[in-house]
Amino acid sequence: MDMGTFTIGRIAGIRIRLSWSFFAVFLLVVWALAENVFPERNANLSDATYIAMGLIGGLLFFGSVLVHELGHALQARREGLEVDGITLWLLGGVAAFKGDYPGPWSELRVAAAGPASSGSSTATPASLATPSAPAPCPSASPAPRSTCGSRPRRWPTS
Ligand SMILES: [Zn+2]
Repeated sequence: MDMGTFTIGRIAGIRIRLSWSFFAVFLLVVWALAENVFPERNANLSDATYIAMGLIGGLLFFGSVLVHELGHALQARREGLEVDGITLWLLGGVAAFKGDYPGPWSELRVAAAGPASSGSSTATPASLATPSAPAPCPSASPAPRSTCGSRPRRWPTS
């Protein structure tokens, strides 16, 4: 165990660590959401509800950081690098590798994999949650798997 960090588990064999500094910024994010953001946007809820919403928001925020770092780490492993692990800390996350990149394109792919993971992890829920008008179908649509004219997908409601 490194000074100031502890392991919380593994994802796809990659060790995930938390730094104690993570908790300071996690509490700051939860506090900002529960005290300011959510009460401004959703008035008249209980304090416990705002705190629960803040905790969920904080977990989703750091979950998105973890997805980003996993993108870097999994691509690095594909490129033949040894992945030492991912550490979440005060300023976000760090994926650590051992060894040298086989070449500049390899390094570029590892660098791009983080933002690509972030983009795909946010685009999917956004496309599900954003109501939109159905796309118009061309009169003779050649694409049998086209989604034109289909109903927009939404989050399930009870
Ligand atoms: Zn990154």
